[in-house]
Amino acid sequence: MTHPKLTDIHRRRFLALSASAAAIPSLPSTGWAVGSETYGSMIGDVELTVLSDGSLTLPSGALAPAAPREEFEALLTRTMGSLPETVEAGTNHALLRIGDDLILIDNGSGNKYQPTAGRLLDNLSLNEVDPAAVTKVVFTHAHPDHIWGTLLDDGSLALPNATYYVGETEFEFWSDPATETQMPDEFRAFAVGARRDLLAVQDRVQLVKEGDSIASGISVLDTPGHTPGHISVVVERGEGLIIAGDSIASEFVSVQRPDWAFGFDAIPDVAIATRMALLDRMATDGHRILGYHFAYPGIGQIERASDGYRYSSV
Ligand SMILES: [Zn+2]
Repeated sequence: MTHPKLTDIHRRRFLALSASAAAIPSLPSTGWAVGSETYGSMIGDVELTVLSDGSLTLPSGALAPAAPREEFEALLTRTMGSLPETVEAGTNHALLRIGDDLILIDNGSGNKYQPTAGRLLDNLSLNEVDPAAVTKVVFTHAHPDHIWGTLLDDGSLALPNATYYVGETEFEFWSDPATETQMPDEFRAFAVGARRDLLAVQDRVQLVKEGDSIASGISVLDTPGHTPGHISVVVERGEGLIIAGDSIASEFVSVQRPDWAFGFDAIPDVAIATRMALLDRMATDGHRILGYHFAYPGIGQIERASDGYRYSSV
């Protein structure tokens, strides 16, 4: 159910999704286009807004690099209508307002990763949210597209008044200087950036584990495997919502074949077990999912299918 007040707000407010040159003249010139309307709804007494950080381009093979090629290609062709070389991944940030808290899940790429991402602060502004008003940030994990938006160019915090909730295991793993030296070359920058941003907020960090509360009705679920300490956020209000980060990366591949590792899963066996348990839970208890990389707004229902599961968008 949509709250009446929100309906008005969301009718007027929009969301910048792409780097196209087209612009709506009445809005401040940002250099990129205004895309779809901002998604908002109430989950019980929690006001949810989904804000995009832009898009990311991935080679389609990264969705399941170890899967049998023929089966993988058949799944993509069946679900996407073609066999693309690359896929555009969404970047869906939940902004939750409850009581005096304004809680943002992950803070995006900033200007440090792919050029089509880093729109989150602009989208906060388009929706008239002052970054200084964000009271809590939850990092699902410390990959670039989730955490590299922590610092502005001048070294100050983009969200200057927040407490930062980070999984204990995730913080330990990435803040350890040894992690960088143990990474394969292509992921070394991930470790450098994760350590930089976690240390930048360390005096504001609240370390969390399974079951810990972020706010009333909002708690932490351990969902390891994509990274060692990946966490999800459960909203136990209304029909329920699980903000799943990258534990379920693709609404097509990861949902239909949770047993296929995603290319960025750090510990594939653990990621697969986590994904299967999470899908089974949502298909059973009816909680909706918010998938970070699903097509905007990335919210929908999970149902069992004859093979794997299916996602249907709200
Ligand atoms: Zn991601």
